[in-house]
Amino acid sequence: MEGTSGAMPKEKAKTVNMVRAIDIARAVEMFAPLSAQAEWDNSGFSVGDPQAAVHKVLIALNCTLDVVEEAVELNCDMILTHHPLIFGGCRSVLYNNVCSSESLQGRSIATAIKNNITIYSSHTPLDKARGGLNDLMAKRLNLQNCKVLSPDGFGVVGTLKTVGTLKGNSGEKAGKGMNGEEFIKFVKKQFGLKYLRCSKPIGYSIATDGRIAAAAGKITKVAVSSGSGQGSAKDAIAAGAQVLVTADVSHHNFYQPEGFMILDIGHYESEWEAVALLESIVKKNFSKFAVSLSKRDKSPIYHF
Ligand SMILES: [Zn+2]
Repeated sequence: MEGTSGAMPKEKAKTVNMVRAIDIARAVEMFAPLSAQAEWDNSGFSVGDPQAAVHKVLIALNCTLDVVEEAVELNCDMILTHHPLIFGGCRSVLYNNVCSSESLQGRSIATAIKNNITIYSSHTPLDKARGGLNDLMAKRLNLQNCKVLSPDGFGVVGTLKTVGTLKGNSGEKAGKGMNGEEFIKFVKKQFGLKYLRCSKPIGYSIATDGRIAAAAGKITKVAVSSGSGQGSAKDAIAAGAQVLVTADVSHHNFYQPEGFMILDIGHYESEWEAVALLESIVKKNFSKFAVSLSKRDKSPIYHF
């Protein structure tokens, strides 16, 4: 699960006096090639001047207005994010007190331009890269013998190293893997979650009187897909996994065949390690370059 990130040769890193935005982007692309991006993605430079000299970079998961304003306050001239600022089409750049998500995007673009900030994002390339976000999810769950999950390069599937101990309510012995309940607890612990959403846990059967019975562990193979990965469920089943851990699962995708379950741990929660990953790439290649990590970039979803 080691990343294949090739740091720039040491002599070269030492002789770089002036760092340009494109130098930072190239370091990221050595780890996560831009050519790997999905056709619907918009990774790469979105705003500013790739040739501009930069002195300080702000790293965040999302490129929100909050993050752009934070960059201005911190005197950063570059923002490096996982999610692109311009995504799914941009038809206008309006920023005069218009209440819409488009105006937030417009104000973000305008604020960045007015303050000479260049923005680069590595979205699907960072998901797919070896040592990237899917690999980090797999690592967090201690998966072994990992392989790429889907033909388009998204997701990872591997075997569960951590073994469950819960015995079935009917008295059967604990299996080699975990049952649904154990696995849910394990995922919550590994990702530091208070809650998650999931389809019917494996091993659960609900009797007509409402009692729930838990069977012994059956989960031994697990698939993960960072961000919105519900479309990979069929690949997970084909790969022999009993579980897919992902985010943004819609109502209909919680209906899964018997013996397979899907977990929605939250989009932000599945990808927040992108910030530390991008930081490590920049620091590895530009040891003396100033890097700030966003403090304002939080999950936009509130639970009550
Ligand atoms: Zn994402």
